[in-house]
Amino acid sequence: MEQMKQFEGKVALVTGAGSGIGEACALAFAREGAKVVVSDIVGEDADRVLKAIEQAGGTGIEVRSDVSRAMDNEHQVKVAMEAFGRLDIAVNNAGIAGPAALTGDYPLEGWEQVINVNLNGVFYGMRYQIPAMLKSGGGSIINMSSILGQVSFATASAYVAAKHGVVGLSKNAAVEYATQGIRVNSVGPAFIRTPLLTKNLSEEQLEGIATMHPIGRLGTPEEVAELVLWLASDKASFVTGAYYAVDGGYLAR
Ligand code: NAP
Repeated sequence: MEQMKQFEGKVALVTGAGSGIGEACALAFAREGAKVVVSDIVGEDADRVLKAIEQAGGTGIEVRSDVSRAMDNEHQVKVAMEAFGRLDIAVNNAGIAGPAALTGDYPLEGWEQVINVNLNGVFYGMRYQIPAMLKSGGGSIINMSSILGQVSFATASAYVAAKHGVVGLSKNAAVEYATQGIRVNSVGPAFIRTPLLTKNLSEEQLEGIATMHPIGRLGTPEEVAELVLWLASDKASFVTGAYYAVDGGYLAR
């Protein structure tokens, strides 16, 4: 007899699911039996990931969504509820790197853009996911922070501020809903080999960055997805309001 998959009957929404860490999470949830709402700002990317899920025998739906727009966040939850009738898991993962500049020179537009996507996007996400989860009898929210939610990185003030904000916001929601069956945690990857990095940095620069990790290499999106899936699962039933690093030892240096 086939063993029941760990997320059978559950519905998982992943933002920024068209690439990198979000894609790895979406594929992993589907493999473990969840129905996945594949949300991304780029429709073709969401489409590609949904097709991969379906080809592997999974179930999902795609939605084009810009997380920096409150109404898109409302819409993607509506899509989940209309298609599958419930929402159990949300991974607020969409994010951008933003410009690299010292704080005294930081482009104002770049600041607003990074805060809008990386911090406001997480708030808007939870703002609509939480009521849907309450109707579904509880749930688990995982917000994508970073090692830069704990420490600084010169020339990345907007990113660092947003990712620290995600940690605080996650703690706050966690204590507010702890007795109502919703757990909220944040995840802090170090440098992970995804288009976010490979679009902006040369292989030589990436090799230099790899040496900042005691493990001596960059992480993979799948290694982050493993942690996200654990936090989403009942195995993490006593874990809420926490920040979990997945960083090859970066923060331990
Ligand atoms: P990625 O490969 O660039 O994937 C992010 C996805 O989100 C892309 O498909 C991107 O679309 C999409 N996106 C961008 N802006 C969006 C918006 N406003 N609304 C909805 N979707 C949007 O990046 P990643 O490395 O997987 O990053 C995922 C998350 O992990 C981010 O929050 C990032 O800050 C965090 N993180 C990454 C690293 C790392 O080293 N890679 C480390 C720590 C934390 P486009 O392709 O059009 O941009």
